[in-house]
Amino acid sequence: MKLGKGRRFLAGIALAALMVCSLGACGEKGPKWLSKEVEVIDDNYRTWYEIFVGSFYDSDKDEMGDLQGVISKLDYIADTGFNGIWLMPIMPSPSYHKYDVTDYLAIAPEYGTMEDFDELVEECDKRGIKLIIDLVLNHTSSEHPWFLEACRYLEGLEEGKEPSGEECPYYEYYNFVKGSQSAGGWHQVGSTDYYYEGGFSPYMPDVNFDSQALRKEFEDIMKFWLEKGVGGFRLDAVKHFYADMTSKNVETLKWVNDYVKSITPDAYMVGECWDGLNVYAQYYASGIDSFFDFEFADSSGVITKTLTYSGETNNAQAYAKALVRVQNTIREYREDAIDAPFYVNHDLARAAGFMRYDQRKIKMSAALNVLMSGSAFVYYGEEIGMTGSGKDENKRAPMYWSSDSGAEGMTAGPADMEPQENQFPCGEEQFKDDSSIYRFYKDTILLRNQNPEIARGTVERLTEITDGDVAAISKTWNKTTIYMLYNLSETEEKQVELSPEQYGYTELAGYLSVDGLEVVLKDGVVSMPPYSVAVLR
Ligand code: CA
Repeated sequence: MKLGKGRRFLAGIALAALMVCSLGACGEKGPKWLSKEVEVIDDNYRTWYEIFVGSFYDSDKDEMGDLQGVISKLDYIADTGFNGIWLMPIMPSPSYHKYDVTDYLAIAPEYGTMEDFDELVEECDKRGIKLIIDLVLNHTSSEHPWFLEACRYLEGLEEGKEPSGEECPYYEYYNFVKGSQSAGGWHQVGSTDYYYEGGFSPYMPDVNFDSQALRKEFEDIMKFWLEKGVGGFRLDAVKHFYADMTSKNVETLKWVNDYVKSITPDAYMVGECWDGLNVYAQYYASGIDSFFDFEFADSSGVITKTLTYSGETNNAQAYAKALVRVQNTIREYREDAIDAPFYVNHDLARAAGFMRYDQRKIKMSAALNVLMSGSAFVYYGEEIGMTGSGKDENKRAPMYWSSDSGAEGMTAGPADMEPQENQFPCGEEQFKDDSSIYRFYKDTILLRNQNPEIARGTVERLTEITDGDVAAISKTWNKTTIYMLYNLSETEEKQVELSPEQYGYTELAGYLSVDGLEVVLKDGVVSMPPYSVAVLR
């Protein structure tokens, strides 16, 4: 990536904002901090936008989202503040979700062409956006030529003859055994005595990472995409490479990571190890930059608990403690581990439902996620509070750009999706509304981008200030310490005392309030409305 250009682009936006200020328009336009200049640092501590291409934006009126659609919304993505994009699988596949790949070196025709992809890389580059793509190594499609060839070989094998990888190399790409298996996840090859492992489904045969020939295939595939200019990969289902065998999975991921970094040293790699902190933390020993932070995500994670559960284990104190706990645990395995906080993704119900469509809580969940250290991920549609729960298709509904389903760019969504009723206004209405969920997301990302310590800093809890309602933390990076205060009381304003002399800060650098109220710093006391965040530096 040639990011010089992108940085100038962002600085240009900030400059334009400053010019508007000098014309005197800012007084009416909200708090002053919103117009401060932003210099976004070009590293792997980014704010990422996860896109399901098929439901995002349609460029050619077939109601299927496509790569040209993503290109046409890059200005929207950059303007919202994101500087990274994760595309869910874009390779040919028989399924709507595309997590079962039939050709790792091509673009799914319904999403466009390889030329479209090249253009997407170039356009991301111009805007300083790092692009990563989903790479599904754990299994292929059962229609992948490797698997079809291996099955043909077994079906044609002479009675009494042992199969051999020398005769058919693809036989060794998968996990075949002879004789019926009592454990789940094994499926018969035609009417033979052979069975194959397909932990997720019969249509997704698990590969055999013991095969060096298979590893070589994957190396060539990774090289192909890196040479196309992708900034790295999101690695699917890594704990299933060898079913729940952590040390073998770590070894396999080390091979992946070392190979990728040997080609693109600043590539960003993030793995999905869907498990508790004590398990996914161990995977950092592989050298992979990030693993998704399942500790804070979903309907039973720290963010949901903080905002919707009561009791001591779910209050502001507990939130602050959890930030420190996750950081320290992952750093035991890799000193420069980059946490990958997210709140929901394509496998989880959307936040609006967990928060019972309470707009204030949805906004606060954005702050509790996006202001975390590391590389923060936001799933498309969360920034406008979209609805989606139940079957997976419902979680991947059309991006709600417009309330007119026939409007330009609108997609139809997965064929088996149940109708989703969005409870908040569509994007085009929220973009114009200063009190919308969208505007709160945008301000939150801006606050993160203005203060590089938010993403990169080491977290400490200010035990003397934190209580049941107020979480107080410091973040230190590059010899600078900032302070972040979160008023997590739904109803009460808080006066937080923090002496500028003692803590060594000089200003209120920015703040968020779900009700659009002001946070005021006066004589070392920060007045914080209910559900607000303050950053002091
Ligand atoms: Ca299309």
